Amino acid sequence: MMNENKRFLDPNIPDEMANTIRPKTLDDFIGHEALKQNLSVFISAARGRSEAMDHVLLYGPPGLGKTTLAHIVANELGTNFRATSAPMLTKQGDLAAILTALEPMDVLFIDEIHRLPTAIEEVLYSAMEDFKLDIMLGEGPTAKSVRIDLPPFTLVGATTRTGLLSNPLRDRFGIDLRLSFYSVADLAKIIMRSAKILGTNIDATGAEMLAASSRGTPRIANRLLKRARDFAAAAGKDFIDADTIKTTLYQLHIDEKGLDEIDREYINAIIRNYAGGPVGIDNLSAALSEPSDTIEDVIEPYLMQLGFIQRTPRGRVVTEAGYKHLGLEK
Ligand code: ADP
Repeated sequence: MMNENKRFLDPNIPDEMANTIRPKTLDDFIGHEALKQNLSVFISAARGRSEAMDHVLLYGPPGLGKTTLAHIVANELGTNFRATSAPMLTKQGDLAAILTALEPMDVLFIDEIHRLPTAIEEVLYSAMEDFKLDIMLGEGPTAKSVRIDLPPFTLVGATTRTGLLSNPLRDRFGIDLRLSFYSVADLAKIIMRSAKILGTNIDATGAEMLAASSRGTPRIANRLLKRARDFAAAAGKDFIDADTIKTTLYQLHIDEKGLDEIDREYINAIIRNYAGGPVGIDNLSAALSEPSDTIEDVIEPYLMQLGFIQRTPRGRVVTEAGYKHLGLEK
């Protein structure tokens, strides 16, 4: 089932030219106005007091701008940005090495923070609360616990689902920011901005067409733009016109709601194998040969947003709208 589209959507694949396109300031960050206003207050306050800003928890599906915002926070605070990801931290020492290398007021970004092993999470508690590092040196009877002072820093944690975070960890974040799917209008602005940076020509109508098929996700909007640019070049055009966009979406098997093959297969699997549901996540994961994490983080949030599926206590159910989208009747 590995195909082009799967890779296209895969949030784990690095974005091409990510550093060129990624907004560097709050002003460049499109959409989420209320969130930006709050964040800018917290940033100015921290700067004004010359203190480290409170720890920030960012949550939302992949590709909505969590990493980008973490960069922006560091940039606007005028501090260093250090980044790691929970799956890379396997021993307490891994985290200790990063924490002791921080400079005062630095921003430390930990992606997928819900995946931290408990032992490492516990090191974070005192680091976040008191800027102290409590670690055990040595093993067995000679082991001793030492406490090291850390510089004040801001932890920015990103997670796809807050429900997966332990309460003690969640309680240590002073600022909680939730990123939701973007409107077509905001995605169209993102596409226009990226097109300008890439030196590609597209007009407002074209940007809206691409935006409508971007699953509410800036990362997908940018990827679609880059593919449309390729198809325009292949056709010898220096402009991404409506025909180019249609070809792009057709070739990538993306429909007018932005659903790709995997999304449609997901809905189909529930209808075909489970009479429309309810079906539990483990059965679906087996039927689709997809890890349940991917299903819950990448596939389902957007299908729920469209109202094509529902999560019920007994499992997932395809709605009437979901049936209709596939040309079927419930
Ligand atoms: P996440 O960390 O949530 O998976 P990223 O921060 O990596 O998402 O965002 C993916 C890409 O989408 C970035 O490279 C950036 O260029 C673009 N992007 C995300 N949010 C915005 C935004 N609000 N405005 C403009 N571009 C954005």
